Amino acid sequence: MNSALNWNNEQPLLPGLTNASQLYCSAFSEGLALDPERPVSQWADENRILSKASSAEPGRWRTERTPYLREIMDVLSPTDPTPVVVLQKPTQIGGTECGNNWIGSIIDQGLGPTMIVLPTSNAAKKSSRTRIGPMIQETPCLREKVREAKSRDSGNTILLKEFDGGVLLFAGANSATELKSSPVRNLFEDEIEEYPSDVDGQGDPEELAEKRTDTFARRKIFKCSTPTITGGRIDAAYKASDQRKYFVPCPHCQHEQILRFDQLRWETRKVYEVASTETGEVTAVDADAPGAVERDTGELTDVHYECEACQGRIDEHVKPELLAGGRWIATHAGPDRAVGFKLNALYSPLGWFSWRQVVLKWLEAQRDTSGTRLKTFYNTILGEAYDEAGETIEPHFLKARVEPWRVGGMVPAKCLLLTAGVDVQGNRLEVYVWGFGRDSESWLIDRHVIFGAPALPETWVALEEMLVKAYQHAGGATLRLRAMAIDASDGVTTHFVRVFARKWAHTRRVIAVKGQAVAGKALIGRPTKQDVNHLGKVMKHGVELWPYGSDTAKGALYARLKIERPGPGYVHLPSGLPDEVFDQLTAERRVTRYLRGHPRTDWVLEKGRRNEALDCAGMADAAAEYAGRSRTNWDELEKLINPTQQDLFAAPAGATKPDAAAAQPVAATTEANAVADAAPKTAPPGHASAPGWLTRRDNWIRR
Ligand SMILES: [Zn+2]
Repeated sequence: MNSALNWNNEQPLLPGLTNASQLYCSAFSEGLALDPERPVSQWADENRILSKASSAEPGRWRTERTPYLREIMDVLSPTDPTPVVVLQKPTQIGGTECGNNWIGSIIDQGLGPTMIVLPTSNAAKKSSRTRIGPMIQETPCLREKVREAKSRDSGNTILLKEFDGGVLLFAGANSATELKSSPVRNLFEDEIEEYPSDVDGQGDPEELAEKRTDTFARRKIFKCSTPTITGGRIDAAYKASDQRKYFVPCPHCQHEQILRFDQLRWETRKVYEVASTETGEVTAVDADAPGAVERDTGELTDVHYECEACQGRIDEHVKPELLAGGRWIATHAGPDRAVGFKLNALYSPLGWFSWRQVVLKWLEAQRDTSGTRLKTFYNTILGEAYDEAGETIEPHFLKARVEPWRVGGMVPAKCLLLTAGVDVQGNRLEVYVWGFGRDSESWLIDRHVIFGAPALPETWVALEEMLVKAYQHAGGATLRLRAMAIDASDGVTTHFVRVFARKWAHTRRVIAVKGQAVAGKALIGRPTKQDVNHLGKVMKHGVELWPYGSDTAKGALYARLKIERPGPGYVHLPSGLPDEVFDQLTAERRVTRYLRGHPRTDWVLEKGRRNEALDCAGMADAAAEYAGRSRTNWDELEKLINPTQQDLFAAPAGATKPDAAAAQPVAATTEANAVADAAPKTAPPGHASAPGWLTRRDNWIRR
């Protein structure tokens, strides 16, 4: 103590302070690493002001609003010995502010040289200008600590800010020069998921940045990001940590649990309607009115949480107490593990991002047939890495979900549009008929293997039988294929595929397709003309070859096969399928590799397995897009095909047919997507004439 005082005794002593405080203040002003006993959360509550420009809730920072952030901030505190802190976060819970508050407390308390790394130099500049700069300006105790950038000798630029007791550097993970600047004690690696895998040929930017901290015994590294894919940087960092999760007590039974999307429950508003047989006009009626048809408006009426232990109802308005009563529990504790936290948007405080918004985002993601929104939902709402790095689905998982209706039999009530994908092999054709309904729900309807070489005409005659096959729909109508896509990628058989497609292109919407094994391709692309005349010129009305996004289709199917609850996005499988179908549907696994810093995903067929079922599912999916699935008016289509909305097993087809149900679609468009032939005897009156408008416009329909 004495030597320290001696060392410091040239400083004028401040009146009224004890020796200890004097020492503290002097050391502080010298920028020495004497840690004040103040956790980051306390610093934030005392000092941090949120501005109107950058915050939805401007004013004083209150940690009690987001109680789950307290522990994260406090392990970043100088008083805590933890060297590495990991936060895997969604976008809606204020996670970024943890880092901001940490930086604020570093500046205010003079805690040594500090670096913030963002994915690129531009992002680093932007962070300085729009996040840290304004925070310094709006927080009085920080404003006075950071020298004004105006004076020329201040040394302050966008990428460098000097303060008493340290310096704050901003760096881009794409610049080795910026990363290798000088030693730092505190390192904030923000949005690490987007860092390149290699920077300027000098190695991994995360490692380069972390090397800067080697010389400090009491270093702090904070890794923070919204996840993207399994095996990505934040996913790997969290998995290597002690994996803390935030447990909240049930208000009914006190059982501590983490908030999970699976436990959210919601109801949609149903209306009951009767359509007039004469005018087709629809009127709302009571549920028990004769001929009333139930229609789901998709409008959310109730959203709540269900306790996993007592199944008690937890309403969102109790969230403040839920969060306040919660605590972090390490689920993978171990001696050498970093401290890691993971959150999802269900924890978002009352008034920020509601459970209702979570459900709306989920339903929105289900309607997106490309699957991109589903990935975004997992990443930004659930804060989960999306499973696409090599994991696959087990065949027995699919077998377990088989439903009682038969393959090749009656089409279930909600399935409204049929297409087929055809795989061409040297000795056979494999045909898979898939059905689609609203919100990306799908059904495997039929499967047929036609044995015979593609060079033999009878092979294609057999395919024609599949092409015109009529399927009985549970609602009483008859459905036929809306489109068929045939694989024309194999040079040996392409000629025969073209002949068939040329014959049926205009009357039955048969297309020759070629898969594009590249991520991000559209399900169906722009066709190229294939036929040339005797002069070698491309023929205007010749057969076309359609590129389709085979990887996109596989990705979407795998994502949907993981949905376990029938409803939006669910994949229904019939009984009566041979085991090889389940094996083929799950034969590929997606592998992610990093090439020059960019993740590239490839589909790899596992050794010794066949994948026809998977390829055909992708082609049927592409055919559905070709047939206008994404522009479909499902309400119109449903009225046409299944006016009673009866269920396959609730009542036999045609048993009860309310007269009023035979509404003709009013102002129908050509986008309606199925052929509804009148089913003999069972079709309701008026129904037989319903597809008249379709026959007129779609000349491929035979009646
Ligand atoms: Zn409970």
